[in-house]
Amino acid sequence: MALFRNVILAICFLAMNEPCFAMDTGQYQEVQKLMQAPSGILAKKASEILRQKYEIADFALHNGADDGALPFKALPDFVTSNPTSYTAYRIAVLRPELLSRQQCYCDRKDHPTLLQCFLISDKPLIYNDHAATAPVCIRESLLVFLWSESGISPGEITGYLRFLFDPEINQPPQTSLN
Ligand SMILES: [Zn+2]
Repeated sequence: MALFRNVILAICFLAMNEPCFAMDTGQYQEVQKLMQAPSGILAKKASEILRQKYEIADFALHNGADDGALPFKALPDFVTSNPTSYTAYRIAVLRPELLSRQQCYCDRKDHPTLLQCFLISDKPLIYNDHAATAPVCIRESLLVFLWSESGISPGEITGYLRFLFDPEINQPPQTSLN
């Protein structure tokens, strides 16, 4: 299967002379569906997955306690101001490696990665208040997480983020269906 995918990618690359991707029809439909959903719906879906898959281990992590000792530090108010941004912050804390691979298309050019819109530091955990009032950062975090959960690769995610948020890009990444 991996070999088949690589062959497709190689043919696709040679034919188009630019990077392109292969995904199955179900993944492709999921990418499209998520792209069109409002952020509140994305947050509900992401929150469910976070609870089931990523939040069982370490309650202290979500509450900012560095060593897990009681009492837990309260989360800053800006993190919990509404369920949608709270979910986007939880993604940053639980899956920082996903957000650190992507760029943010908000107005903060001094944040080289999407992760920095949410966290000033992940060890110790220091939240950045910027993303709390930035719908672009929040939507990107939710999409990156949900696309990744659907098995979309980091390179494909980069391509779709550029398509959605970079005004100079008006084509989605070349994707061949297998
Ligand atoms: Zn941002």
